[in-house]
Amino acid sequence: MAYDNQNIFARILRGELPAIKVYEDDQVLAFMDIMPQADGHTLVIPKTAAVTLLDLPAENAAYTIQIVQKIARAMEKGLGVEGIVLMQLSGTAAGQTVPHVHFHLIPSSVHELGKHAIQMGDQEKIAALAEKIKAAL
Ligand code: 5GP
Repeated sequence: MAYDNQNIFARILRGELPAIKVYEDDQVLAFMDIMPQADGHTLVIPKTAAVTLLDLPAENAAYTIQIVQKIARAMEKGLGVEGIVLMQLSGTAAGQTVPHVHFHLIPSSVHELGKHAIQMGDQEKIAALAEKIKAAL
């Protein structure tokens, strides 16, 4: 599948759409999911234009996972949670809805996950959770 430059995450990366960011460097951006499946649901995306995990060059994937681990640590510390579900939907057949590769970090048990990309979260609450994650980085 060809990469669509107008997908939501590409627009967030270009600063055309807002996002509640928790971490950014030259290769990766982490920001809060707008429809969280649990409090603190965070997305980590490489800046590389890739639709699925399989389109992502191995070195970008390796670096992104390092940042996933860094954010997970900050979530555990900052939010005071123990378990985090790491989810990666690769391809529309798997349920991927935004065609830019991303990793979901969801502080929850897999048995208690909310529905996927259904319900808008409370933006003030999400912003407050983001501050806690950022403070623990
Ligand atoms: P996917 O289904 O592609 O694995 O996950 C896409 C995720 O992006 C969903 O969890 C959905 O809630 C989230 N999402 C969709 N649109 C936006 C948006 O405009 N901003 C943010 N921050 N998250 C979004």
